[in-house]
Amino acid sequence: MKRIIILGSTGSIGRQTLEVVRKFPREFEVVGLSGGKNWRLLEKQIREFRPQFISTELPEKLTPQISRGLIFRSTGELIRAKILPLEELAAKKCDLVVSAIAGVAGLPPTLEAIRKGRKIALANKESLVLAGSLVMAAARKSGAKILPIDSEHSAVWQLLEKIPRSKIRKIILTASGGALRDIPIAEFKNISPAKVLQHPTWKMGRKITLDCATMANKAFEIIEAAHLFNLPLEKISAVIHPQSFVHALVETIDGNIFAQISKPDMRLPIQIALFGGERRESLITPLDLAGKKLEFHKIEKRRYPLFFMILEAAKKGGIFPAAAAAASEVFGEKFLAGEIKFPEIAKLTKKTLESTPQISRGLTGVSPQSATLENILATVEKIKNQFE
Ligand code: NDP
Repeated sequence: MKRIIILGSTGSIGRQTLEVVRKFPREFEVVGLSGGKNWRLLEKQIREFRPQFISTELPEKLTPQISRGLIFRSTGELIRAKILPLEELAAKKCDLVVSAIAGVAGLPPTLEAIRKGRKIALANKESLVLAGSLVMAAARKSGAKILPIDSEHSAVWQLLEKIPRSKIRKIILTASGGALRDIPIAEFKNISPAKVLQHPTWKMGRKITLDCATMANKAFEIIEAAHLFNLPLEKISAVIHPQSFVHALVETIDGNIFAQISKPDMRLPIQIALFGGERRESLITPLDLAGKKLEFHKIEKRRYPLFFMILEAAKKGGIFPAAAAAASEVFGEKFLAGEIKFPEIAKLTKKTLESTPQISRGLTGVSPQSATLENILATVEKIKNQFE
């Protein structure tokens, strides 16, 4: 039995992870679950999976039975679970931590689990965007293994099993293009949050769905891939592939291109990560390629300015990628709340990036090139507080 902790169990990845766990009841024991504000779903999950440890943003909302004595009855049994702060939950002993909290809030618990040397199934790409060098250094030091859940990175991981690293010319990640792919740019200023949240191929959480429409997500994934596979940013690119069947491609020095193809269903990469790469029967029905189109298009700067902006920030290094992630998250939330127009997400992120050196120096007195955890977290906090 693998003992697993799921951070963000009430989210899209968390729920799909539990679907995989349900398929293999003899393989996994859920020892920890964490939710944010969706306490109702968390309670349901607690009753079904009976973890020893739980974490929630709203402990006061849990039914008195759970929150007071933390003893409750499920299928006639008495169960004892303990509510912990998120980072304490992440540090608990287990065989695998699924890191599936959305956004920058995922970094502290993910880093804590890595410092403890736990094996991580990583969905929270923001951890690597914000603090990739620190996270990977912590993993090297503690021996923690990081296995990707993101479908593109899972695809690269599977492809690289067969291709020696010295033979890689380029890695290409695919992007659906998001909900606004075919909408005239002139209409962006009047686009509603509801429209942006209609992803053409994947069903995901709100933040990542918006990040697909701005293409911020793909820039984050390029940064994530650079850290996970220890490759320079220049060797990783992205291309729009509307069908979302090809998840990534690896080009070798002889001019071959290898692709990983499967249905756009996150339960497959989640399962692969849960089993450490081992192939098992899955919940996914095979993809019938007959009659299917496979198209690839360039990512246009006018349509997706945030993509280029974030990659530029990544090239600068230091705290710039963290500032880009924090700013795009804050302004993305503002757009979803109806406070700003869609094109302003990129415009305001650009402004924030221009003022990042001053923000950083003002906070800690150190250069924006100094990507210490303190500097990164302080900058992120400052950007969030300034604009939220
Ligand atoms: P969701 O928004 O669906 O779920 C996010 C989870 O994080 C929920 O459990 C939520 O709790 C919890 N959460 C959010 N903020 C906090 C906080 N401040 N403190 C504690 N918990 C919090 O997101 P997704 O599942 O879509 O995405 C999760 C991560 O996986 C992201 O980093 C995303 O980029 C990545 N990813 C997602 C994919 C997908 O298909 N969904 C694909 C590849 C990567 P609650 O809902 O209870 O408030």
